[in-house]
Amino acid sequence: MRKKIVAGNWKMNLKFEEALQLAIDLNGWIADNQPEAEVIIAPSSIYLPTLLENVDEQFLKISAQDLSAHEKGAYTGDISAEQLDSIGLDFSLIGHSERRTYQHEDAEVLEQKMKQAFAHQIYPIFCFGENLEQRENNTHFEVVESQLLDVLAKQDKELLNKLILAYEPVWAIGTGKTASPEQAQEMHVYVREVLDKNFGAEIANSTPILYGGSVNAENAENLFSQNDIDGGLVGSASLQLDQFTQIIMAAQ
Ligand code: PEP
Repeated sequence: MRKKIVAGNWKMNLKFEEALQLAIDLNGWIADNQPEAEVIIAPSSIYLPTLLENVDEQFLKISAQDLSAHEKGAYTGDISAEQLDSIGLDFSLIGHSERRTYQHEDAEVLEQKMKQAFAHQIYPIFCFGENLEQRENNTHFEVVESQLLDVLAKQDKELLNKLILAYEPVWAIGTGKTASPEQAQEMHVYVREVLDKNFGAEIANSTPILYGGSVNAENAENLFSQNDIDGGLVGSASLQLDQFTQIIMAAQ
């Protein structure tokens, strides 16, 4: 049985005191309610050390939203996997669609980012998904297959058991338009087939595949009850304690 995971991507939201308070409240709620799902939050990188100190990782895990494709050196503004590891961080999003779009991150960069994560014991939460045009042209399966293989096929196969995947159709992110549970399940099954064909049944069956794209307290249960949906990557609804905790409870 794969563990359920609910991850909150806070993006570029919340001032310091707000982020700290939300993390402390969430940590307390998890301690009191002991949900089945593992809960991860990805705050802005400047808050990472303080949040790591103020939550108990037994209850709440902390992730970066991104890491550098480079090991170290003259890359102003970048944060390396080694630096993240040095503050005790264990997770990072890689390949979020907003970074693919606004920072023009392509497969070559993402391949390097994932190599850096694996080299420094950071679990990558690798995001992928088709845009609206690709869905409407019916090319979404091949788009997703190449997004996965362009990056995963270049990694050390022995390390792929540390991978977490997040299928996030771009047309559903921040739009209020969610993929139906059937659409999401269909893609998750396809992703497992791609993993099976290329990396074997063990990786295909054990890799958590989260769904992301306008998940909220109303739709979470239907999405998470699908066999191959192992939880969610949640954007805006993860900024409100009551919404996010209902989503966490939906992942049983
Ligand atoms: C995300 O940023 O990964 C996301 C899924 O956002 P939202 O839930 O707001 O659509």
